Amino acid sequence: MELIGSGRLRLATVWLGGCSGCHMSFLDLDEYLLELSQAADLVYGPFVDAKEFPAGVDVALVEGAVTNRANLAMAGIIRQRSRTVISFGDCAITGNVTAMRNLLTVAETLDPFRCDGEASPAFDYAAVPQLLPRALPLHQVIPVDGYIPGCPPGPDRIRAAIECMLRGEPVHLAPGMLTFG
Ligand code: SF4
Repeated sequence: MELIGSGRLRLATVWLGGCSGCHMSFLDLDEYLLELSQAADLVYGPFVDAKEFPAGVDVALVEGAVTNRANLAMAGIIRQRSRTVISFGDCAITGNVTAMRNLLTVAETLDPFRCDGEASPAFDYAAVPQLLPRALPLHQVIPVDGYIPGCPPGPDRIRAAIECMLRGEPVHLAPGMLTFG
């Protein structure tokens, strides 16, 4: 594994409006994670105990669509603090499953939680994240530098993308790795 540059790669992973399946696929890198740990530090994400997205991130893999105000704010922070931002999986790239709610208004999306037209007493509506009118692909909110498609992307694709970044190259996947779903 060759790392261009003087330091170790500062890698972050982020979970926005997604199901965590893309992160589960990242774990499926299995023994390659040990190899990766020789060249990269995982500085933020669900796998590490970091409260805030740090400055000076080299690569951020972002799972999920931008579907609520917290996602929107986080997307801005990611872009501001990361050299390279990668849309990680189909929800980040197209909206995918998360954007299925775009056929409905926000009120209609929350309506299944109502009983006979009345707010359900058992449901804490205030606890629902403040949804945006539509769930958006990441590139419609911030500039994105690369894409890893798939729902979830297989570990072969994730590894191929990471190896591009370790070489200091843009993410370039073989045509067979560019399918959705
Ligand atoms: Fe889940 Fe698929 Fe979306 Fe990844 S792309 S967050 S696996 S639904």
